[in-house]
Amino acid sequence: MRKEKVTNPKILRLRLKKMDLASLKYRNKFLNNKTGLYKKKYTERRSCPVCNSNNKIRIFQKEGGFFVKCNKCTMVYLDPVFKDKELIEYYKNNIPIQSAACVMGNDFYDTIYNSGLRIIHKHIKSKNKKILDVGCCSGMFLDIAKKKGGLTYGTELNKEEYIMAKKNHVVWSDDLEEIDFNEKFDAVTFWDVFEHLKKPTKVLKFIRKILKKNGVIFLQIPNSDSLAAKILREKCNMFDPIEHVNLYNKDALKFLFKKHKIRILEMVSVIDELNVIKNYLNYEDPYLGSQRRCKQMKFLNTQNIHMNYSGYKLQVLISL
Ligand SMILES: [Zn+2]
Repeated sequence: MRKEKVTNPKILRLRLKKMDLASLKYRNKFLNNKTGLYKKKYTERRSCPVCNSNNKIRIFQKEGGFFVKCNKCTMVYLDPVFKDKELIEYYKNNIPIQSAACVMGNDFYDTIYNSGLRIIHKHIKSKNKKILDVGCCSGMFLDIAKKKGGLTYGTELNKEEYIMAKKNHVVWSDDLEEIDFNEKFDAVTFWDVFEHLKKPTKVLKFIRKILKKNGVIFLQIPNSDSLAAKILREKCNMFDPIEHVNLYNKDALKFLFKKHKIRILEMVSVIDELNVIKNYLNYEDPYLGSQRRCKQMKFLNTQNIHMNYSGYKLQVLISL
């Protein structure tokens, strides 16, 4: 893909919308036309991926999937969910929407990647840090990490993105747990990836084996307690009924990490998503609206949102 800088957020969003439609067409292949739900052969039922409880409420249906909320730990997750094998097939053949978004929204991603890198650098002081980015897309984050002196490694299931990332970094195209790593890493990063993984505990156990002593794990994940998610509900982009199998929030994360004796080194709320919220509250399309100011809603500001961990995403640094 040609590298170009689009600064007008409306054009950016229109292009993303076009790609969303292409992606939707691909996803519709998995639907049962009679029920409107995903075909049963692709899916399975499950209990809460964080606390294992079966006590949950359905919060809404979107496309062919149901999002539920755990009554014990507040986790939001897909139930039913695609089986592992089907999910891997789905990713291998899906259109590479994320790398296209990265290229088009360059400045936005630069800022957000640098903020994560600063958090990692604060806790890992050694030079030439070995960084493994799981689900690295076309390698945008690794490019930045490499510029700052990191030794960069990645994994990517999508064929096109794998080929792009491989040009500048050591990259594997297999599922994380299938890879035979001969390396140990200072940091393992999951940029908008952890929510795609069905069994967080299993992944964390695997990472333990490939992390150096005092190594860290960085996660950026959508926040199911974000103001945008709670106001927009199923209209919010966060709720992807195939890919976003697990949607965490501050409390669910704390529950998960406490259970596994994992230390939280940092947790910050990022991306206020105020433009989207204000469009919606102005009766416009949340993602394509005019971003008109709404005077009555001055109480909605960046500071209040992040102070309450209500940003669209959370960035979290943990040590095992
Ligand atoms: Zn739970």
